[in-house]
Amino acid sequence: MKSSPSPDAYRNLVDSHFHTQSMLQRGMDVFSAYDRLFNAGFAGGIDIGCTHDDLPQRASLLKNYPAILIAGAMGPWEAGKSETQGSPEEAEFSTHKTTDQLLSELEILKNNIKEYKVAFIGEIGLDYYWNYGNPEKQHLLFETQMKWASQMGLCVLIHDRDADGDTAEVIRRLGPDKGGIIHCFDGSETVLKTALERNYYISFAGNLTYKSSDNLREMLKRVPLNRLLLETDSPYLTPVPMRGRPNSPENVFYTYSCAAEVLNLSLDSLKERVLENFKELCSR
Ligand SMILES: [Zn+2]
Repeated sequence: MKSSPSPDAYRNLVDSHFHTQSMLQRGMDVFSAYDRLFNAGFAGGIDIGCTHDDLPQRASLLKNYPAILIAGAMGPWEAGKSETQGSPEEAEFSTHKTTDQLLSELEILKNNIKEYKVAFIGEIGLDYYWNYGNPEKQHLLFETQMKWASQMGLCVLIHDRDADGDTAEVIRRLGPDKGGIIHCFDGSETVLKTALERNYYISFAGNLTYKSSDNLREMLKRVPLNRLLLETDSPYLTPVPMRGRPNSPENVFYTYSCAAEVLNLSLDSLKERVLENFKELCSR
């Protein structure tokens, strides 16, 4: 059992992936947490959206936090309710969408991406676990936004769940030269190989700490230190020992602790490496 972190524990931590709006929707006191973190020397991270039209609101919510960079995109869930199976409970994912609707939502998103000058296109990708919409609709969203990233000179943040072969294929065919992040890496050999060849960072989330994640911890050892990032994916995937409640960027500390142990590094040197990596990505 790990002891709770001292205030100094948060110094120089980066959380490369979290969803402020989804935390607010769960009634979490997000901004008090951000204030505590930044007072303790937190280095910042990336706020990820959930819908094609959430950028105006997110930009205004986060205007006082310049170290929280904003990403914009339509994730695979925006392909709409699965045409072959049940979807998760969240209401915003529960309606069917036509291709015409997706095209007009992409248009709205593209205008917002330009107007709000997002730092990254993400998260985008494929999710065959929930089978949102159908594979064609997921590909339409993923491929369109991969092309935008190249045109706009932006890095991408990739979501892959149970679709590793197709995800890797799209990365090879359409991925922007600047690369990006494979978020919440799930241990896929295919995605790892492609991502490392194409200059992507590999970001591990709180599931790295789970008892059943031996394979993921083994994969962590195979990621070069100069390609490693860590994240919470808040409010999801709360790490041990905080499981059972919604996740918050503060908990990224536990994922760092676990990774430092697996890699046999001091917490301070791991923090230094990850911070350096994050700065390199942001400078691309
Ligand atoms: Zn996410």
